[in-house]
Amino acid sequence: MFVSRRTCHRLKRRLQHYLDGELDKTTTVLVEQHLETCPKCRLEVSTYTRIKSALARGVGNDGTARDEALDHLMRFAERLTGSEGQTL
Ligand SMILES: [Zn+2]
Repeated sequence: MFVSRRTCHRLKRRLQHYLDGELDKTTTVLVEQHLETCPKCRLEVSTYTRIKSALARGVGNDGTARDEALDHLMRFAERLTGSEGQTL
């Protein structure tokens, strides 16, 4: 089985590429299969999705507001990532 904490670590490096649609088909399937079994990584996906939508909303608007929203969400994502291995 590839579902393990080690997989989580590898997946996190790929999540952003996955969300950007930059992964090859095989890797995309592996990511999606892991997400089905891992609530923790699903939470990260939803976080990155919010970051992306925040960025999208910020396009064409004031750059400062966009950066503040991004900073807030990135801190949230870092908290999630930083808790890896320390909880549960
Ligand atoms: Zn995971």
